[in-house]
Order: sequence, then C-alpha cells, then structure tokens
Amino acid sequence: MADSLREPALLDALRGALGAAHVLTAAAEVEPFAVDWRRRYRQLPLAVASPANSSEVANVVRLAAAAGVAIVPQGGNTGLVGGAIPATAGREIVLSLRRLARVRAIDADNATMTVEAGVTLQAAQDAARAAGYLFPLSLAAEGSCTIGGNLSTNAGGTAVLRFGNMRELVLGVEVVLPDGQLWDGLRRLRKDNTGYDLKQLFIGAEGTLGVVTAAVLKLFPLARSSATALAAVVDARAAIALLRELRAALGDRLTGFELMHADCLRLVERHIPQQRNPLPGHPWYCLIQLDESAADEPLSERLQAALERARVVDAALAQSEAQARALWTLRENISEAERLEGFSIKHDVSLPVSAIAEFLERAGPLIGAALPGARIVAFGHLGDGNLHYNVAAPAQADSAEFVARNSSAASRLVHDLVHSLDGSISAEHGLGQLKREEICRYKSEVELDLMRRVKQALDPRGLMNPGKLV
Ligand SMILES: Cc1cc2nc3c(=O)[nH]c(=O)nc-3n(C[C@H](O)[C@H](O)[C@H](O)COP(=O)(O)OP(=O)(O)OC[C@H]3O[C@@H](n4cnc5c(N)ncnc54)[C@H](O)[C@@H]3O)c2cc1C
Repeated sequence: MADSLREPALLDALRGALGAAHVLTAAAEVEPFAVDWRRRYRQLPLAVASPANSSEVANVVRLAAAAGVAIVPQGGNTGLVGGAIPATAGREIVLSLRRLARVRAIDADNATMTVEAGVTLQAAQDAARAAGYLFPLSLAAEGSCTIGGNLSTNAGGTAVLRFGNMRELVLGVEVVLPDGQLWDGLRRLRKDNTGYDLKQLFIGAEGTLGVVTAAVLKLFPLARSSATALAAVVDARAAIALLRELRAALGDRLTGFELMHADCLRLVERHIPQQRNPLPGHPWYCLIQLDESAADEPLSERLQAALERARVVDAALAQSEAQARALWTLRENISEAERLEGFSIKHDVSLPVSAIAEFLERAGPLIGAALPGARIVAFGHLGDGNLHYNVAAPAQADSAEFVARNSSAASRLVHDLVHSLDGSISAEHGLGQLKREEICRYKSEVELDLMRRVKQALDPRGLMNPGKLV
C-alpha cells in the first residue's frame, strides 16, 4: 500500500525532471523495454524513464532512491541473460540510456574516445573509423547494443583473441552511484597506479552497482591489410592444433578464430535467405581473420601458406572484401537462425583452450543419453576458449515444451562438466536473472561473500537492478 501511495508522486517528479514525453507508463509504450531479445523474460516496469544526459540520470536515480523504488538500467536490450528486464512486475523503473548518444570527444594524439553510454557499438566503431582509428569490439548485435551495455556485461565478441574483452578496452568511466552521486572517473590514462582500480567494479557489474553514463575507450590503428578464410577440419582437436599453428606463424595478426559445427551452418542456410556454406560436407569449420595495420602486407598469401602447412581438409580464402563479409555473415547469423528454428537450451561457457576438445567429446554423449534426439548447436570464439553449446529440441518436437522440461537437467550436466574442467558457466553474457542461482553452485563461499560485500557497500538498500547477478 505504501508503494502505491508514493508511486504517483514519483512519476510526477520524473515527468517534471525529464518532460512527460520521456517518462512512459502506458503498457503498449513500455512493452519493448519489458521483453528481452530471446523473449524469455517479460515483466512490465512501473515506468520507462529516458534521461538525456548524466545529470538527468543522477536526478532519476535520486528521485527513485527517495521513493525506495528500484532502477533497472537498460541500453540496447540485446542482453541474453535477462539482466535489463525488471525482476518484479510493475514496481521498478527501467532507466533507458539510449538518449545519452553523444560522442563527447576524440583525442587523436592519445588514441582515446569519450562516448556516452547510449552510443551504439556500431556508432562508436564508425566514429573511431572517421577519426582514422579502430575500436575493435565487434559482435553480432553491434547495430543495437550500447557502450554502456557492453561495459556492464564486459562484452567479448569476435576480436577478443587480439584485443581482449571490453574490460581491456576502457580507460575511464563516469557513473551515477545508487544514491544519485555522479562519479567522474573519465581518465584518459594508460598508467594510473593510485589505489583501487574502481572503474573495474562497474565493468561486468550488469547495472547492480550504479549506472554507467560515459566511458573513455582505447583506440587502435586501423587494419590496412586483412585476410579471411573458412577452413574445414575433422574435429575440435584439429581446430585447436590449427589455432596453435596459426598463432605461431602469424602472431597477433590473428584477430579472430571461430569454431562452428556444420549443423550451425545448416541452420543458417535453412533460415536466412541467400546464405550458403562454400565448403559443404565437413563436420567442423574454423573462420579465421587476420589483420595488420601496415598496408600491403601479403596476408592472404601468408594465410594460404599456413593453411597448407597445417594440412587442413579444405579451405576457402576470401578473394574480396565482399567474400570476407559473406563468410562473417554466416557466422554472425547463427544466433538469429537458432532463434528462428525455435527455443533451445543455451550455454555460454569458457574453458582453457586445451580442454575444449575433451569437453566436446564428453558433453555430446552425456546430453545424448539424458535427452535422446536432442540436437547440439556448438559454435564459439575458439581462440578465447569460449563455446556456445546450445541444446535444441529433437526435430518435430515442441521446442518451448522441450526447453521448459529439460533446461535444468541439461544445464546441470553441461555446467558440472565445464566446472570439472576448470571452466566458467558464463564466458561473456553475464549472470543476469538466468544464472544468478546457478553460479552459487560453482563459486566458492569466499568469493560469493566478497561479491555480496561489494554490493552491500555500494548499494546497501538493494535498489540497483535487484534480482540480478548477486
Ligand atoms: C545476436 C546477438 C549476438 C550477441 N553476441 C555477443 C557476443 O559475441 N559477445 C558478447 O559478449 N555478447 C553478445 N551478445 C549479448 C549482448 O549483445 C551484449 O551483452 C551487449 O553487451 C549488451 O548491450 P546492451 O546495450 O544491449 O545491454 P542491455 O541488454 O540493455 O543490458 C545488459 C546488462 O547491462 C546493464 N546495463 C545496460 N546499460 C547499462 C548502463 N549504462 N549502466 C549500467 N548498467 C547497464 C543492464 O541492466 C543489463 O544487466 C549478443 C546478443 C545478440 C542479440
């Protein structure tokens, strides 16, 4: 009852602070903010507030805190673990960062760029390129996901092998704390040993410790020579041997090394128009990307020679930028093709690269015995030890019913095996609502306690994205 009394006053105050057009409450208007990309989580918020700048964000957080109402930060809403969707119906404010979409500054001599949280990843890449630089984070949702979301999930993607996760690409952050204070930590320094590296707390925190409003990103030289190839291999062991050979031969020119099972490409061909696997008939494929900032580096020749030395079963080397794009489009369409095929049980796991083959050899029979007829959709960023190991319903089965009935059992098998091989049950998507309970089985009590103490220290009232991560 107390909540229902103070909520109208809060909504009035938010409208006063942001303008009525930027505080949505009608069900039809808030619906796009209330459902996640995979349509697994849906919960209507009390309202969607869309501030235009950092001080408006601070205002919203202060007003909500005064009313005891929780905040759910949301960027592009492409997250895959339900982190940006309210955990309880009608009681939380979704704080959309999409209007904070300014590139504030590019410092060419320092090779850095200061951008607001709602800038999409693609817009950040474009701004860097226009200034003659590369911002290397790259993932299939880049047209919609935002820098704030990338930072809050410590996003990975296809170039981690060379450039690292988002965590390694950020020099400074600006954050609105749970009590509404603004922390300007927008430092542009590559060296700054002045105590705890506080920005790291907010990277990968999934909005549970504060709202990121801006960040300083590292920029890199643009690639001036590139080569892309699809290579067919007999199994994951052969793929790992190939990765090792390419690294030895080509060093950090190797920017991407993706592994895909043939079934993934079959799904893409079935569901996405004009997609074709140029090397049909093999069980596994590696997508290889080389980049070099020096112009005229004969990368294609070097890649071809390395592939020949490695004796891959078959390979298609892109002869043009269009062909290279087509190979990457195959890879980037796997998630969308899976979605069009139906629901499946998702696993985003990481392992030491040296344990990936053993994982695949053991996981297949485990799932086969527990869920006869289930189809495995396995692909991932092999160079980073990151596998998306998804379990789809048998052909003709009702996929929603299959997932509802078998999710817990399948994930338990996969995650226990990952854990026994020193892996992680979340490589890059985070914990959100999906793995919040599950993680308690795999992290030590000491580590869980440390995480809870950090949360308690920064957000003692538990108003920042409750029901997620911890
Ligand atoms: C097709 C597809 C492919 C993908 N591929 C990859 C991939 O290769 N690698 C990868 O890592 N991820 C991938 N993702 C997942 C997703 O794109 C990333 O997690 C992305 O970083 C989320 O950004 P977003 O702006 O959409 O965040 P949202 O989904 O809006 O939010 C994600 C989390 O961050 C929090 N958050 C968002 N903005 C802020 C902020 N400003 N301050 C504080 N907290 C905030 C939210 O509360 C939530 O917990 C993929 C998703 C899709 C749909």
